[in-house]
Amino acid sequence: MKKKIEKALKNVIIIDNKNIIESGLVKKIDLLNNEIIIHLNLSNPAMHLKNKLIKDITQSIRSQNISDTIRIKTETEIKSYTKIKPVIKNIIAVASGKGGVGKSTIATNIAVSLGHMGFHVGLLDADIYGPSIPLMFNIENKSARLQHKNGIINPITSYGVKILSIGFFSKYGQAIVWRGPMVTKVLRQFMHETNWGELDFLIVDLPPGTGDIHLSLLQEIPLKGIVIVSTSQKIALSDVNRSVGMFRIQSIYVPILGIIENMSYLSSKKTKEKCFFFGKNGVRDFSKEMNLFFLGEIPMLQKIREYSDLGIPVVLENENIRNIFLNITKNIINQLHE
Ligand code: ADP
Repeated sequence: MKKKIEKALKNVIIIDNKNIIESGLVKKIDLLNNEIIIHLNLSNPAMHLKNKLIKDITQSIRSQNISDTIRIKTETEIKSYTKIKPVIKNIIAVASGKGGVGKSTIATNIAVSLGHMGFHVGLLDADIYGPSIPLMFNIENKSARLQHKNGIINPITSYGVKILSIGFFSKYGQAIVWRGPMVTKVLRQFMHETNWGELDFLIVDLPPGTGDIHLSLLQEIPLKGIVIVSTSQKIALSDVNRSVGMFRIQSIYVPILGIIENMSYLSSKKTKEKCFFFGKNGVRDFSKEMNLFFLGEIPMLQKIREYSDLGIPVVLENENIRNIFLNITKNIINQLHE
């Protein structure tokens, strides 16, 4: 009888072409009076997968002409997160309404500024639409070295910042359509199965805009607060409006620490005259209207663009720019304690 059941179970194949006996999913088979109890060890508790598995097993056993009652007991294998216990004091996300407003550049330079102040810092690039942190730290080729030991990911350290990017899991230039459950799974790994060690701050570079992905992100990551980046352009601000609305929804409420105005103006080298390319004080005025703290402004500077293309955080190279970012970073820390 047991042989027959085992044979039936070997016909049940799971995703990677292994049958459920080979893959170790079947923990035990108990034969009682006219009753078969199959104990399964599942690591993925997703309901629809579980139900499909139970259906397949039942069908396969029935096809062996066995008429006993079949009971399938499932246990979820809880991965022991106790192997590593990252201690992360403050997780702060950087968000924007639109793409291209400088969110990743600012996340990068805030992270390095915090390091400059003596804090232990990590940077998690969760921008599934365009993970650009590896480029900004010139580590896009290092993802192959990403170490997995006993299923634990070791982040890559660059300029003193521990970095993990969703981009490490895709080849450069390759488009990935990240669906909600995949994002949730990867983020869970990033949070619980990553050797962050002790961090004072973990900066999270969020995807721009609002959507389902943001909701899963906000549910997976225990954020202390959000920093919003925008240009003063009307079209950028109208999207920020939606983001603010999302972060303020009661069920996912995350405090917004403030808003940064990026690419505020362009200065003429000769006359020092300021050109307000995206409009003057747009973000500043918006912050008053929306009751958001104004964290500071960053001018449009060629050096910022050049260094981000070189993959070197600009705050390490230019004192003026460093001071701008240090001020903004101090404002963020102050807001955390408000
Ligand atoms: P996002 O993350 O919002 O999509 P990025 O940080 O990738 O935006 O920035 C988009 C581009 O703008 C990059 O090439 C970056 O170097 C440039 N950039 C960002 N902020 C500034 C600035 N203040 N001055 C000049 N260039 C900037």
